[in-house]
Amino acid sequence: MTRTYNAGVKSWDVVIIGAGIIGLSLAISLRKQRLRVLVVERGEPGREASYAAAGMLVGSGTEMPPAVKPLAAESARMYPEFAHELEDESGLKVDLREQGTILISCDSAFPDSAEPISRERLRSLEPELIVASSAAYISERSVDPRALTAAAFKAARHREVDISSGSEVKGLLTSGDRVNGVQTDKTSYSAGIVVNCAGAWAGCIAAQKFPVRPVKGQMLAVVGGPHLEHVVRADNVYLVPRSDGRIVIGSTLEDAGYNKQTDVSTIQRLLQAARELVPELAKTKVHDDWAGLRPGTPDELPILGETRTTGYFIASGHYRDGILLAPITAEIMTGLILGKSGTHDVGAFTPRRFLGLEQ
Ligand SMILES: Cc1cc2nc3c(=O)[nH]c(=O)nc-3n(C[C@H](O)[C@H](O)[C@H](O)COP(=O)(O)OP(=O)(O)OC[C@H]3O[C@@H](n4cnc5c(N)ncnc54)[C@H](O)[C@@H]3O)c2cc1C
Repeated sequence: MTRTYNAGVKSWDVVIIGAGIIGLSLAISLRKQRLRVLVVERGEPGREASYAAAGMLVGSGTEMPPAVKPLAAESARMYPEFAHELEDESGLKVDLREQGTILISCDSAFPDSAEPISRERLRSLEPELIVASSAAYISERSVDPRALTAAAFKAARHREVDISSGSEVKGLLTSGDRVNGVQTDKTSYSAGIVVNCAGAWAGCIAAQKFPVRPVKGQMLAVVGGPHLEHVVRADNVYLVPRSDGRIVIGSTLEDAGYNKQTDVSTIQRLLQAARELVPELAKTKVHDDWAGLRPGTPDELPILGETRTTGYFIASGHYRDGILLAPITAEIMTGLILGKSGTHDVGAFTPRRFLGLEQ
């Protein structure tokens, strides 16, 4: 069902394609600059990758491409204010947890900012965790992405962002080399600026097809077991506790197209890997399992900026870090859309790096 909130408004400064965390955070940021914003969402807002994520805010991961690290560190710094503002404006809690993360690694490959910890310290921090390898502590936060996205949706509505859900963008409206709106399956919306925030589907929108591909991740949540204070991240599995007692366990990196099915053997393998770290998890019940599609790119860097069609921007390809990178992406994209030079070097993320590679 198509539902357009605030149907009286007929024209907008900006149309955003996709109501995931990237599209919603950008919509709020642009509204703060008094732009009239419409978000067009194919399904229900916040039900794709942003719903599936674990919510670890990894500010300095060893696997992160070097070009992303400064953005990740800055976005991690911005998070408390970002989260508290969404909570204030929505009246919803986002479960931002400050307890930090315990890293477990067979080859002690820890980021510089992690602090190696002894067996005794580990026992006092997380008594249920049984570890034969080395461990380190890092003060990284986590958030509940489902709650965060729900809060972002409500905060966007509170700020009078218009949202049309159940409405799929099929293509762009252009005049010469300028964009002037979007065509959906049912109608068209006009605006001088269009931003593609369609996550793993960003490459499917006609005009310029960016090489964004879905990278499937399967996850499960358990309830009724031991209490964990910290996020625990090992080489083959991670555990992310929520304040309501759930523990989220993940994940896989699969090239499976747009298939979001889970399979029993993968979920069992993740659960088994988690039980090897926390044997008390044997007492838990599986609450639910799911899969989501990360927006991956060939160089594992996000795509941020204006395309070769004037007024048509893209903010996608956040791969494994889109929850973390939402606040910095909103700030950068707002600057680019308003034509303000920002403090971040975003040259590595330009959509123009794929010129000639589009299908
Ligand atoms: C299993 C898993 C674990 C993860 N863990 C973490 C983590 O711990 N930390 C972290 O920072 N990140 C994590 N991520 C990554 C993070 O979830 C993504 O990078 C982020 O959610 C991307 O947000 P998005 O708004 O770009 O995409 P999405 O949330 O997928 O939103 C895109 C939206 O666009 C809509 N759309 C698509 N096509 C159209 C169209 N044609 N017309 C209209 N609407 C359209 C979709 O319906 C969707 O709602 C994880 C992802 C997965 C799958």
